[in-house]
Amino acid sequence: MTFRIYDTMTRGLVEFQPKDPGVVRMYNCGPTVYSSPTIGNFRSFLMADLLRRHLEARGFTVHQVMNITDVGHLTEDDIEQGEDKLVAAARRERVDPFEIARRYEKEFFEALEILHFRKAEEYPRATEHIAEMIEMIQGLLDKGHAYRVGGNVYFDEESFAGFGKLSHKNLDELLEGARVAVNEEKKDPRDFALWKTDEKHLMQWDAPWGRGFPGWHIECSAMSRKYLGDELDIHTGGEDNIFPHHECEIAQSESFTGKKPFVRYWVHCRHLLVEGKKMSKSLGNYYTIQDLVREGWTGREIRVALGRVHYRQPVNFTKESLAEARKGLQRIHEARARLLRIAKGLEEAGEEALGPRLENAREEFGKALDEDLNISAAMAVLFELVSLVNRSKPSRRGAEEALALFRAFEDWTGMVGEEPEVQSDEEGFVWMADAEDPKRSEVLGLAKERAMAKAKKDYQRADEIRDQLARMGYRLVDTAEGIRIEKV
Ligand SMILES: [Zn+2]
Repeated sequence: MTFRIYDTMTRGLVEFQPKDPGVVRMYNCGPTVYSSPTIGNFRSFLMADLLRRHLEARGFTVHQVMNITDVGHLTEDDIEQGEDKLVAAARRERVDPFEIARRYEKEFFEALEILHFRKAEEYPRATEHIAEMIEMIQGLLDKGHAYRVGGNVYFDEESFAGFGKLSHKNLDELLEGARVAVNEEKKDPRDFALWKTDEKHLMQWDAPWGRGFPGWHIECSAMSRKYLGDELDIHTGGEDNIFPHHECEIAQSESFTGKKPFVRYWVHCRHLLVEGKKMSKSLGNYYTIQDLVREGWTGREIRVALGRVHYRQPVNFTKESLAEARKGLQRIHEARARLLRIAKGLEEAGEEALGPRLENAREEFGKALDEDLNISAAMAVLFELVSLVNRSKPSRRGAEEALALFRAFEDWTGMVGEEPEVQSDEEGFVWMADAEDPKRSEVLGLAKERAMAKAKKDYQRADEIRDQLARMGYRLVDTAEGIRIEKV
């Protein structure tokens, strides 16, 4: 097995090999928590989640860090112009910027759960790492990579030879990009702010250069270093992060640590279109994850509609694509329900062992993802598996093995869904409500507790639990295959 990934720095597919065998240090540029998380924000996060799942499926231990930007992200990604996004939102909503940050951070974490993300090891907040940023800025000053003008500190581009190497921009293009913001203070238009002293800013901290706030770029350099060390294996983001954000991160980190490269593989995903256009509030194609859930779409459907296209291709997110995702998931669900009935002896089994064809599907699925996370090819393998299952008469063992493969594909991508009815091994419960029901584990727990109470002849407790479940809207039905849990 060889996993190949497209590296923005070298502009090509490269064989993935982490610095330390078996361990992957991955940093993902996370959300700026100044508004509700939209579908547009989630494409690069979903790519990172798929990357993590694939690496884990291939036996790597992944240490994943995704930052929470809760200060310093300016509207033009440029500290000289534009207002801080957090501060602007706080002004608009007339509340404390920290309150804004916590509110939208909470929504972000909810959205991660809705979309079935695997949890990163760390989600550091910028506002809780000001000391690390100050240390790094001071270090850059000491080493001659930064300079002060009054209370402001700028990175000195002259001092770093590699600027532009990630975005492949030449000096003219870099100057062109910087020309929008003419700032007399800076030695070179390409220089960018590390610290800004600003008495009017609503979020301020003490620093040796004056009370103020950090630039957005320094936060990722400081936090990735704290949690993952000087050299990362993978750094991800959206394509709009390449310049200037990631270019600046490289300049800061490599200048500070003296180690190269800061990142072994740079992975960026293309932007997202919604209903064929760039997402914007004025075009009416602006969806938050929670909006879509209120409209009745499940997290799984949103995840599939968002994640079905290869990350380096543009994806058009539409209501039709959600409906298509729903249909596809339903097809998978029905095929698995039939397999489950066969496996449990509720439907007549056939003779087909399926074995080698299942092995072949597993291999093809992995091969697709090994080739630069080609999810659309992997999904094609998944639906071939559905067709294979539907047109065969599997033996009981064949059905069990096919079910295991669906579970493996779900674990690998999160795009397959839960098994339709889940029977826990000893207790003999059959879950008949929605697989994504948020009360599921609570209800199953109570049902198990009731079974134990009955076994101990504590009928009063058993009845109490039955009534409690009824109030929650669930009913237990004894059947030959076990106790069925139904939603009333
Ligand atoms: Zn970042």
